[in-house]
Amino acid sequence: MSDVIQLLPDHVANQIAAGEVVQRPASVIKELLENAIDAQATRIQVVIKDAGKTQIQVVDNGIGMSLTDARMSFERHATSKIKSAEDLFSLTTKGFRGEALASIAAIAHVELKTKDEESEVGTIIKIEGSEVSSQEACVTPQGTSISVKNLFYNIPARRNFLKSDAVETRHIIDEFQRVALAHPQISFDLFHNGSELFQLPETNFRQRITNIFGGKTNEKLVPVNEETELVEISGFVSKPEFAKKSRGEQFFFVNNRFIKSPYLNHAVTAAFDGLLKEKSYPGYFLYLKVDPRSIDINIHPTKTEIKFDDEHALYAILRSAIKHSLGQFNVAPVLDFERDANLDTPYDYKNREASVPGVEVDRDFNPFRQENSSGRSKPGTFRKEPAGKWESLYSGMQDEPIEKEEVRHIEFESEEVTGSLFDSSESEPEKSTFQLQKKYIVSTLKSGILVIDQHRAHTRILYEELLKNITVSAAVSQQLLFPLRLQFSSHEMEMLGEIKESLEQTGFVFSSLERDSVEISGIPTLISESEVEMLLEQLFSDLENEVPNNGFSQTDLLARSLAKGMAVKSGMLLNNTEQQHIVNRLFACKEPSLSPSNRSVFITLTVDELDKKFM
Ligand code: ADP
Ligand code: MG
Repeated sequence: MSDVIQLLPDHVANQIAAGEVVQRPASVIKELLENAIDAQATRIQVVIKDAGKTQIQVVDNGIGMSLTDARMSFERHATSKIKSAEDLFSLTTKGFRGEALASIAAIAHVELKTKDEESEVGTIIKIEGSEVSSQEACVTPQGTSISVKNLFYNIPARRNFLKSDAVETRHIIDEFQRVALAHPQISFDLFHNGSELFQLPETNFRQRITNIFGGKTNEKLVPVNEETELVEISGFVSKPEFAKKSRGEQFFFVNNRFIKSPYLNHAVTAAFDGLLKEKSYPGYFLYLKVDPRSIDINIHPTKTEIKFDDEHALYAILRSAIKHSLGQFNVAPVLDFERDANLDTPYDYKNREASVPGVEVDRDFNPFRQENSSGRSKPGTFRKEPAGKWESLYSGMQDEPIEKEEVRHIEFESEEVTGSLFDSSESEPEKSTFQLQKKYIVSTLKSGILVIDQHRAHTRILYEELLKNITVSAAVSQQLLFPLRLQFSSHEMEMLGEIKESLEQTGFVFSSLERDSVEISGIPTLISESEVEMLLEQLFSDLENEVPNNGFSQTDLLARSLAKGMAVKSGMLLNNTEQQHIVNRLFACKEPSLSPSNRSVFITLTVDELDKKFM
């Protein structure tokens, strides 16, 4: 047989890649703004025509580019920001893939004007559908100006996919605001069809928020500040009385990058527990600083999702920091005089070595757990946390109260460590497991040891189960005593309509779907009522992030998204029964070694390998 495989020509490859990076005009704005920020600009101007469909221009006063770099910048995987794979683990810039300019140039008419400090003159390059049409020297100040005209001119299908000018402008404003909020020390302007939408001078966080959302915002803000080993939190939440009927002003920034996180959003909402009126949403602008090595941003080209090493602890810290602020600022009177023990625990993080988890801080780190000990809470000082999904997962298996289980578990862990040092291993039961850093389940094999990522393992288990429910046999559902009514945008409700049937297979029962709300009367047995909203939110955000027609079936996406949200998080303490349950069910899966997003679920270390290490 003759050879049939060919490399795609660059412009075709670029067009395909562009589909991932550029979904709409707002994505171009985001990429160009991020490039300007990476180039240390202190002043950035954005000019758009017809919601960006006709033209987008971003002008910055950053470091600019040399002639060679200007030309190089349009090559795919050309980046000045990382040099090796290791750099990926300590990213401090916004860009790193070197894909944006190449992608944009593949699907639009682009003009780049730039000059760096050393060059006498600047460079102007015109490029259309990846073809450079002209390159000349020009007079221009230091910095970069990029103009993008006729987006998707050569992909009519994508151009037709764009929504009305009003909708696309909304998306642009959203992206613009996110970037502007993350960088108050940079001045930003936005013009649309000749009129000025925003003019934001350089300032501080608080003032930037007020400049964007209006003068009255200032008095609604309660500052939040917390510093721990794991994370530094700063920013503001809105006072409960200003909570809105729709979730608009909710922003998380991690290392100055806007992210979406239904899980952390849940933590904020939990901090407001009891202070909000039915179905209202608190505003927040929260800035989290974490070690870049402890996050993984490379999971989606649009980069609004980040994976944290210890999401679970982050949840607890965030929730308690906000509770504390609300209490301090007299917003939550019950917390005035007496510090709630529940608030204190995560503060212990301050004084402890991150790598050596102290036994005494463990018990409060599961925010889903029910508070059982009456000694730690006074009636009325805080509400009971709803029982968590992973508890309900194992319900029936656990006849001891949680607290006891945990204590037993801790003893088990230390026994295991010392015991195995001195006892002969033959006497140990084969199936023994222990948890490492509340993140990995370690188990012994005949030939060595097995280290399992608990979150990925559980995600795999739930994913296969959900797929089976959706495609083969529907799951049973738990009826809710009182139907749950949730508010969503009309766009989200549209998505819900499309996946309704699949969701019903997993155990959801929808009693009515309206334009901007849904009533739910039954939910899958694996989740608790308090998590429903978060899971659906996550699902919508996943559906939205997924590129249209990229081959993944919606069923698969749905199962992946729900599984990810329902799975035990890294950072959750698991008792021995739970650990073994995960191990057993994992190895009953069809594909135990990979998570649904194709990441390794476990590694093994054989005795041979160990022997080598001791040579
Ligand atoms: P990435 O940002 O991932 O590196 P891009 O395709 O967005 O990839 O940009 C490619 C390169 O072009 C960047 O690494 C940077 O060196 C250069 N560049 C892009 N925009 C600017 C700008 N506004 N100012 C200076 N250099 C820029
Ligand atoms: Mg970039």
